[in-house]
Amino acid sequence: MSELVSVGSFCPNENCPDYGETGRGNIIRYGKTGEGRQRFQCKTCKHTFNERKGTLFYNRKTDEKDILECLALLAEGVRISSIHRAKGIKEDTILSFLREAASHAEQIEAILLDEYQISQVEIDGLWTYVGRKEAEKTG
Ligand SMILES: [Zn+2]
Repeated sequence: MSELVSVGSFCPNENCPDYGETGRGNIIRYGKTGEGRQRFQCKTCKHTFNERKGTLFYNRKTDEKDILECLALLAEGVRISSIHRAKGIKEDTILSFLREAASHAEQIEAILLDEYQISQVEIDGLWTYVGRKEAEKTG
């Protein structure tokens, strides 16, 4: 199962013994960056990172990059079935990425806007898509 957790919940340093582990209490708030972003430090490895550098997705099976690419493709209007064929990720899994992303919309939007050149309109469409899917299930 994938799980989307907030930046600052775990250490993003791959060489750290506590890398990717949540609930260890090893992450402390460590002032702010010059841009006013929250900075964190891992007490285990002393590595510092900010909220943009930290990893948003905590997932043992799928790389964060793949998840973000799925979201970017969806935002661009690529069908889920096409993404499934291209990336070999189950359609249900892609939908779960989308639902998880929607609950952290602000952070995801910042990354898609900055790093994937996705427009705000396309991102809005992404969240609408989640809403529509949820409505179909419940109604
Ligand atoms: Zn660490």
